[in-house]
Amino acid sequence: MLREKPILYIVIPCYNEEEVLPVTAPMFKAKIESLVASGLIDDGSRILFVNDGSRDRTWEVLTELCASDPVFTAIKLSRNRGHQNALLAGLMEAKDLADITISIDCDGQDDIDAMDEMVRAYNDGCEIVYGVRSDRSSDSFFKRSTAQGYYKILNALGGEVIYNHADYRLVSSRVLNELANYKEVNLFLRGMFPMIGFKSTCVEYSRHERLAGKSKYPLSKMLTLAFDGITSFSVKPIRIITGLGALTVVLSLVLIIYALVSWATGHVVPGWSSSFIGTTLIGGIQLISLGVIGEYVGKIYMETKGRPRYIVEERTWSNTDGGESGEKM
Ligand code: UDP
Ligand code: MG
Repeated sequence: MLREKPILYIVIPCYNEEEVLPVTAPMFKAKIESLVASGLIDDGSRILFVNDGSRDRTWEVLTELCASDPVFTAIKLSRNRGHQNALLAGLMEAKDLADITISIDCDGQDDIDAMDEMVRAYNDGCEIVYGVRSDRSSDSFFKRSTAQGYYKILNALGGEVIYNHADYRLVSSRVLNELANYKEVNLFLRGMFPMIGFKSTCVEYSRHERLAGKSKYPLSKMLTLAFDGITSFSVKPIRIITGLGALTVVLSLVLIIYALVSWATGHVVPGWSSSFIGTTLIGGIQLISLGVIGEYVGKIYMETKGRPRYIVEERTWSNTDGGESGEKM
């Protein structure tokens, strides 16, 4: 299938990125220009930054960029909502303006030269093109091993995620219109796109070090995203608990028989250690189980509120339409 030249929007969430933006923004601009020059995309293509409630001069840097060149556009969220929500905000803005979007971090870690192949894959009929890291050598040993273990666990639990794919991907506006129907507030975008379906493919790229600034994903945020990923896509942890419960019941039946036999044969006093071990073990399992169930109850609580996932405070282009502000989309 041969498609018309698409309008591309590169969607880039930014949180406290004043240091890296002056370095990477010209790179993204050059990429758009080269894609236009090679006839892959329409010259109405743009870069859309999402300022995720930065506390530094990020918004000033972005507005200066937008004033300097029409290829840059930006929106400002009313406060920090986290990477996933910021990305969703950008994608929802772009879905009515573009034919295709590519989401990427603003720190230059993901190789922008993979975009050519992504657009070509779209021209060949793919609606989603996942950027997949070919190696993880730029990561610390800790991040590398935890990330790989995590992908394995998530897939074993039934969540469908693409191995070594983060949020660097091309998505067509057609897919984004479907994504708009997914109203969940516990967002894990990389797990949602495979669920939407359509023809998709993967493009490999190598990941570099951050060009400037520090990671905005401390361990705590990474763990939150990891838990959200599991509990938003799988009820297996609850099933595992049920299984553990059944196992504990069987084990305690054996213990009861043992206790009765000991009682009948007169060996009752030395039972203290075994009963102590039993109660503590079961107490621990019960607490963990309550925690996991509580995790899901908490999610239901947040979902039933149906609060907006982000609020757009400002756009650098004139758009009188109030957008999603104040409404859950
Ligand atoms: N980010 C964001 N909101 C946040 C945290 C991060 O928009 O609350 C953006 C950040 O500016 C960057 C991207 O998400 O463009 C990925 O963050 P980072 O590079 O710090 O994560 P890492 O690559 O270290 O996992
Ligand atoms: Mg990064």
